[in-house]
Amino acid sequence: MKHYDYLLVGAGLYNGVFAYFAGKAGKSCLVVEKRSEAGGNVYCENIEGINVHKYGAHIFHTNDKSIWSFVNSLCEFNRYTNSPVANYKGELYNMPFNMNTFNKMWGVVTPEEARAKIESQRQAVKGEPRNLEEQAISLVGEDIYRKLIKGYTEKQWGRDCRDLPAFIIKRLPVRFVYDNNYFNDRYQGIPEGGYNMIINKLFEGCDMMTGTDFLCNRELSDNCDKIIFTGPIDAYYGYSEGRLEYRTLRFETEVLDTDNFQGNAVINYTDRETPYTRIIEHKHFEFGTQEKTVITKEYPSEWEEGMEPYYPVNDEKNQKLYLKYAEKASKEDKVIFGGRLGEYKYYDMDKVIASALGLCRKELGSAFSWM
Ligand code: FAD
Ligand code: UDP
Repeated sequence: MKHYDYLLVGAGLYNGVFAYFAGKAGKSCLVVEKRSEAGGNVYCENIEGINVHKYGAHIFHTNDKSIWSFVNSLCEFNRYTNSPVANYKGELYNMPFNMNTFNKMWGVVTPEEARAKIESQRQAVKGEPRNLEEQAISLVGEDIYRKLIKGYTEKQWGRDCRDLPAFIIKRLPVRFVYDNNYFNDRYQGIPEGGYNMIINKLFEGCDMMTGTDFLCNRELSDNCDKIIFTGPIDAYYGYSEGRLEYRTLRFETEVLDTDNFQGNAVINYTDRETPYTRIIEHKHFEFGTQEKTVITKEYPSEWEEGMEPYYPVNDEKNQKLYLKYAEKASKEDKVIFGGRLGEYKYYDMDKVIASALGLCRKELGSAFSWM
């Protein structure tokens, strides 16, 4: 069997970035991916001429100019700006929390009125917020917490908001201007032609084995100097310290015989009773004009063996357990863990790229040339 410098387990963005720069540095890589296609969670499937984000909607956003230049060097990005709408029992609110939301919720018109309303609703939270519920109420008050956060969050995470870490809700901007842009980052967009364009370029020049689970074929590493593992770190160690928890999603995708189903790419269903958290209408990510449309409903659930682990649950208990695995990992000299599952971190795409670039610098040394 051929010898490789690196065995890359998982064909997601993390390993893609490493593969790209390793190739430029003259290193050889074998990629092993258990799914039937490369791309990890950013993979798109073309249905009716529409790029369908098969493993969940992905909007690229970053504040880092060099990362933005890097992804744009691989593919042109469009001007899509994410502005989800929340549907609470038929009442529609703009997201993220901004003057449009406050106006619809309370009829307030000025930022001063909005601030006063929130102030009057956050008195119950004393001191530093200790969990997601306290953090949410302290940021936007009781009404918005009840209508737009509590139901959605408890569906998404399967846990009471009092048992979830505050940082999850701090991902969302709170603004006292009329601005529905979901992100604060300076750069944002969707790759024209879909994410596969990027993935194909990143892995160009690698040997790739899809449909292959490394954990059932560990002998594949015999002919490789090092392994970069982007699957779940607890699975690599056979769950020896116990199981980390993940949230998973079930995607229900339908082709509809209409050109425009919901008028927006993302509509969140924020009540507790609707079983899905959101409906994605994929064509709107690329301003599609196709005759038909494709929509996906997202149903969250607890991860069990055999399901895709999408979201690490970074609460205290899991974080403690993760540290035990990280301790084992730090003693390895042949295997490196990276990415959302390897590092058990709720990373966005730009952060995964940044983390992979950190590894490139360390591993490839002076052979690493950045842009
Ligand atoms: P992954 O993409 O998960 O790739 C890991 C790969 O390893 C997978 O393909 C997996 O099949 C493979 N693998 C695992 N175990 C094995 C094994 N034993 N053998 C072989 N292969 C294996 N980020 C944003 O910036 N914007 C967004 O809008 C956004 N939306 C998201 C929506 C959802 C539903 C999810 C889940 C994530 C979202 N993200 C978003 C985050 C984004 O998906 C990640 O940051 C990024 O894709 C992680 O890349 P990765 O390479 O670490 O992992
Ligand atoms: N959230 C909410 N209501 C919404 C949208 C988001 O309460 O309409 C909360 C929810 O807890 C979610 C968190 O905000 O987990 C972060 O949302 P984001 O859209 O960043 O989640 P992701 O993109 O990771 O699915």
